[in-house]
Amino acid sequence: MENVLVTGGAGFIGSHFVRRLLASGDIAKVTVIDALTYAGNLANLRDLQDDPRLEFVHGNILDQVLVDALMSRHDAVVHFAAESHVDRSLTDAGSFVATNVHGTQTLLESARRHGIRKFVHASTDEVYGPLPAGCAREGDPLRPTVPYSASKAGGDMIALAYGHSYGVPVCVTRSSNNYGPCQYPEKLIPLFTARLLRGEQVTIHGNGQHVRNWLHVEDNCQGVELVLRKGVPGEVYNLGGGTDLTTNELTGMLLRITGSTWDSVRYVNDRPANDIRYAMDWRKAAENLGYQPMHDFQEGLERTVDWYRHNPQWWSTVPAALPAAV
Ligand code: NAD
Repeated sequence: MENVLVTGGAGFIGSHFVRRLLASGDIAKVTVIDALTYAGNLANLRDLQDDPRLEFVHGNILDQVLVDALMSRHDAVVHFAAESHVDRSLTDAGSFVATNVHGTQTLLESARRHGIRKFVHASTDEVYGPLPAGCAREGDPLRPTVPYSASKAGGDMIALAYGHSYGVPVCVTRSSNNYGPCQYPEKLIPLFTARLLRGEQVTIHGNGQHVRNWLHVEDNCQGVELVLRKGVPGEVYNLGGGTDLTTNELTGMLLRITGSTWDSVRYVNDRPANDIRYAMDWRKAAENLGYQPMHDFQEGLERTVDWYRHNPQWWSTVPAALPAAV
């Protein structure tokens, strides 16, 4: 892969991935296309702006003309651009279907026309739906429960269909919950961190027993890069291997790291659709591609909180994402 088009590269995971790709040395050009929605932030790429191999294009993946023009200059695509927040999908499902399904299809159509050599579609463990016990494998049925996961599942399906129908060399990655620096403070870890650092309350929905698998963003990016380089077209790869925690356990860790107490925590009614547990079996990526998450969760979390502590200008510019505790 020499010339890689990265969609959503000004977002959380995309920006970490661009940094990783440029550091790998054998890449001639990385082009980021990003619409800079509320979740996109050029500051995430600022340390890379002098790299002549990086080009930023402010644009929407739904813009077929623009996408076609870009696609013709690249041989691989890594597709992160998405509406990514479950809560927002409950109030604005349409924009999730537009970007996550139609936007994905727009890219695939262009990839088909231009003979792209590899198309990696970044998806999520949430497409498998809640699993009270056991672990989802790549061939398991998809049972998404909210518009976010349903739109991601739609993107997965159309991506794999472009592989079957037109021979587009598509791979899908499904990763668990990512954490790390530069994550917009609407997702649990950065939201709780920002609020606790401000001395504000955090709210837990339900009884706090929901289980999530927390994967450091750099571990996810390792997996995505392996899939880009070695993934077999038509295959799906689960990228898990983080740490399973209930919301209560995770909150306890964040309280300790920020020097706060349980007085800062309030429990509120659960959301109508709040999946109890996600879990994936990621042996396929480990055995076939050599994927191996490296980050210890306690250390990764402390370093993440440290990053938010030392970069208040990054998250204080997005106050709209930090509504008062309810
Ligand atoms: P994010 O919300 O931080 O970033 C999304 C980026 O996409 C933003 O920069 C935004 O401006 C851009 N974007 C949105 N709509 C666009 C459009 N129509 N055209 C062009 N750009 C657009 O998301 P993230 O957390 O970095 O997630 C990246 C991908 O990984 C998403 O596809 C998400 O579903 C998937 N994923 C995320 C997680 C997680 O824990 N964050 C876990 C598994 C999978």
